[in-house]
Amino acid sequence: MAKGVILPSPHDAIRIVPLHRPEIADTISGAALPKLTYRGGPLLTNVEVFTIFWGAPWLRTDLANLRTEVEVFYNIILTSPLMTQLAEYSVAGKSIGPGKHIGSIGVTTPKLKASVSDTAIKHMLQSEISGTQAVPQPGPNTLYFVYLPPGVRVTQGGAASCQAFCGYHSDISSQIFYAVMPYPGCSGCTAGTPVLDALTSTSSHELCEAITDPIPGLGWYDDVNGEIGDICAWKTKKIGAYTVQLEWSNAAGKCL
Ligand SMILES: [Zn+2]
Repeated sequence: MAKGVILPSPHDAIRIVPLHRPEIADTISGAALPKLTYRGGPLLTNVEVFTIFWGAPWLRTDLANLRTEVEVFYNIILTSPLMTQLAEYSVAGKSIGPGKHIGSIGVTTPKLKASVSDTAIKHMLQSEISGTQAVPQPGPNTLYFVYLPPGVRVTQGGAASCQAFCGYHSDISSQIFYAVMPYPGCSGCTAGTPVLDALTSTSSHELCEAITDPIPGLGWYDDVNGEIGDICAWKTKKIGAYTVQLEWSNAAGKCL
């Protein structure tokens, strides 16, 4: 239970991975079980993830290694049971199944400063889509995952990474679907785990939410509890070597 703790309300609770707060690790009460309902919007039925590592620090050996590990994570996780379990959220004409990791690039311009806004991230993404051959055009299943290096704060909706969130997903004009992963450089976003585990956990949270609710609030959503990953935030399991977050199952009535 929350022990009467009043949380600063995140401005965009539908999109974010909240900070880890041990005191609210078990907030699902039996009184009103969460239930996602479908709002008629698109779903990413066979998600095609394209990863973008923004910032020169990703060229550093340790971070280049981390980048490779994240890429391998996508190569494995997108055909893993994590995708299979989302099949319960298929609807008529939209059958959720395996995805694939369709590519990855590093971006060093524009140069990052200590803080980057969601607006600037959108601009970078749109200019990469229109100007860089290696970046795929957005399709109905395309999901761009933008990774930021250490020391760069992300601001979105009046809130900031490591202050209110550890990641989020969103859309541009209902046509370009993307997720943003600040580097987990604070205890609220590592939950005491190694950086790779923190990154795969928060990435899996946003991945599953982007698949089931790519335009936040117009896919599978619960008015009280938010999206599929929000209900189970920071509850994790292992798939192979990877730490992933549990996701809410309507069918099972619990986080799986
Ligand atoms: Zn979420």
